[in-house]
Amino acid sequence: MPTRASRHIVQNEPLLFEVSAPGKQGCQLPPLDVPPVELAGARPEITDFPEVSELEVIRHFTRLSTWNYGVDTGIYPLGSCTMKYNPRINELVTRLDGLGDGHPLQPEALSRGALRIMDLLSRYLLEITGMDAITLQPAAGAQGELTGILLVRAALAARGDARRKVLIPDSAHGTNPATAAIAGYQVENLKSNPAGTVDMASLERQMTADVAALMLTNPNTLGIFEADIHRIADLVHERGGMLYMDGANMNALVGRSRPGDFGVDVMHLNLHKTFSTPHGGGGPGAGPVAVKRELEPFLPIPVLTRRNGEPALDYDRPRSIGRVRAFYGNFGMFTRALAYIMANGCDGLKQTTEDAVLNANYVRKKLEGAYALPYATPSMHEVVFSDANQTAQGVRTGDVAKRLIDYGFHPYTVSFPLVVRGAMMIEPTESASQAELDEFVAAMLAIAEEAKTQPELVTGAPHTTKIGRLDEVAAARQPHLRWQPKR
Ligand SMILES: *Cc1c(COP(=O)(O)O)cnc(C)c1O
Repeated sequence: MPTRASRHIVQNEPLLFEVSAPGKQGCQLPPLDVPPVELAGARPEITDFPEVSELEVIRHFTRLSTWNYGVDTGIYPLGSCTMKYNPRINELVTRLDGLGDGHPLQPEALSRGALRIMDLLSRYLLEITGMDAITLQPAAGAQGELTGILLVRAALAARGDARRKVLIPDSAHGTNPATAAIAGYQVENLKSNPAGTVDMASLERQMTADVAALMLTNPNTLGIFEADIHRIADLVHERGGMLYMDGANMNALVGRSRPGDFGVDVMHLNLHKTFSTPHGGGGPGAGPVAVKRELEPFLPIPVLTRRNGEPALDYDRPRSIGRVRAFYGNFGMFTRALAYIMANGCDGLKQTTEDAVLNANYVRKKLEGAYALPYATPSMHEVVFSDANQTAQGVRTGDVAKRLIDYGFHPYTVSFPLVVRGAMMIEPTESASQAELDEFVAAMLAIAEEAKTQPELVTGAPHTTKIGRLDEVAAARQPHLRWQPKR
């Protein structure tokens, strides 16, 4: 048995209702010396409020906080999500006076610093992507996609060549077809070749005069670089379409390769993946959209320009697609991303990219054999295995993921991308040290062994958590979220 990296503490923590005892108080108030009044808004139907001491409350919430597995707890190898460390310098910068308490309704004359920050971040992102113009407004990757595809639609309409379809490879993120459909396009599936990349013959056939854009993730969701990207871009352009790049995987390219140089017309970035701003739990993100010149007139208002040499906001953009979000975007993400870029510098960013790719390939080499590798093409920043070696024992990708929890790790991404049956998608990011990768690998290898010798140990996992295996369908469709007192 390998040593277990059981870092998360699983306490048997009761509800405050359950530790309540009549008469216990969290604070002591002086005797009442004014007439009592009815509390406005009180809900008399809620009875049995817990009566607990201050220390019980503190311990309760402190213990609960330790149940939360996060990037600050241990490796978080959720593929496609890029759960890298959020450096504390980002937080420090974001809380500086004047930034942390800036208000979006502040007049422009009092927001010079904020505008300079947006301007500097924009320039860095343009240098990193090799594109011509950018909007920071979209609040997430998916919203960036929608913004980008609306820009394509506006630009093609301006050419007098509105088109109906968007081509999307079968390895795409689910948000891509959703985006194209919401923007009013028909989605056409483009199949991958045995190498896991765009099948050029299919593209040749399907890239017709009706196709507005090809939406491509590069590296794609298999973690594979589209090596034919120049031919792909040329073909799409020859046939009058545009190339949209889903840039969520830019952490594999920053400092090494620029989408603007390999023919991309429009792309989004996920600051909350590539540039280390925190994400998860539906918190604020940022999905800037960078474009080539032709698309610039259509960018959402306000557009950041220069007036008398100073960054300023331009609302007078008659061809703009309009606003996609209130105000200017999630400003707190801009300061964090800019801090990350500046703290790393050119060489640091490049090294980050190389380390992310190195870590993924380290895991790949160590797990090859124990787990099936559906595509032999070299991996970039993430590696996709499948459960094909385990299915004969009745062990599936979801079981291995749940068993990882017993070993103290956050699971990898389960059953995505859809092109791989039983996918196990692992993205360690550059944040993991070699020692941590070794622990993760040891756990994965131990589970592969368990799957052979005692598969029920894996299919019944997790065993160490407060709540074991849920019926996933019932948990999603008929959740019981309310605690009822025992009467
Ligand atoms: C994460 C991701 C998205 C969506 O980004 P959100 O910020 O979650 O909306 C789109 N495409 C790919 C490839 C992604 O990994």
